[in-house]
Amino acid sequence: MYKCLNCGKEVKIELKTAKKIICPYCGFRIIEKSCPTTGKRVEAV
Ligand SMILES: [Zn+2]
Repeated sequence: MYKCLNCGKEVKIELKTAKKIICPYCGFRIIEKSCPTTGKRVEAV
């Protein structure tokens, strides 16, 4: 998942369309990668 730096909404971007990354909500072109909480995380405690 990615996050629009303008409106802050989460944007789902597929690699196929990665060439034109635009926020579908506001049209902003700067989107940052957000860390998903669904990722596997293995930590030694
Ligand atoms: Zn936006």
